[in-house]
Amino acid sequence: MNKTKIEWTDYSWNPITGCTRGCHYCYARKMANRLKGRAGYNEQEPFTPTFHPNRLEEPLKMQSSQMIFTCSMGDFFGPEVPESWREEVYKVMERTPWHTYQVLTKQKVIGPDERQLFPNNMWIGLSIDGTSGYWEHSLVSLKLCSATQKFISFEPILGDNLPDDISGIDWAIIGAQTGPGASPPGRIIVREVVERLQEAKIPIFVKHNIRKYFVATKDSWWVTREEFPEMASVGI
Ligand code: SF4
Repeated sequence: MNKTKIEWTDYSWNPITGCTRGCHYCYARKMANRLKGRAGYNEQEPFTPTFHPNRLEEPLKMQSSQMIFTCSMGDFFGPEVPESWREEVYKVMERTPWHTYQVLTKQKVIGPDERQLFPNNMWIGLSIDGTSGYWEHSLVSLKLCSATQKFISFEPILGDNLPDDISGIDWAIIGAQTGPGASPPGRIIVREVVERLQEAKIPIFVKHNIRKYFVATKDSWWVTREEFPEMASVGI
């Protein structure tokens, strides 16, 4: 597990890495390519989905309660990830109820058919960038699944293909693309998302990387919102 600078979590933990989806802005793929042949990343295909059983026990070594971004270097629900890998991860989550595990996906959340109940301390989030409607089935599956906290990460927010109905969602993150050649977020789109979330009374975590695009005016007071779902403050 590694301490991370991502503002909405404490640590990243990657017992499963890799993804074949091919998002052009994928930070994890760039990082895996940089690390190829090292740190568990395959020399030839560093971003191919891979299970790292040697990393499974890492959360057990940390006795204090932490927020843990799980599988930040891939897609936990990717179609190439076998259920048996995920099951090993769920077992660790269940053995460490003092931690909160945050999982993000762009795929359909697998459940509740295959697994009736996710671990109580597992939050599941859908990553929506607004460039296309890939998220439609995934959002339905997220709403139907048994996760105790369901969230949407609008990061990087790049287009306006976004859900109108965000009922049943407990939390949202908004962030911009970063790095060389990053596309700025559409100001109107971001405001619309914030308004929609606000109307639905959904807590919003606005990442620092989006603040520079919005001058602090009466209109953009929301850029400093760093909220969490209620359960975050009380523990699970
Ligand atoms: S879904 Fe996530 S991990 Fe997969 S390519 Fe896209 S950004 Fe990278």
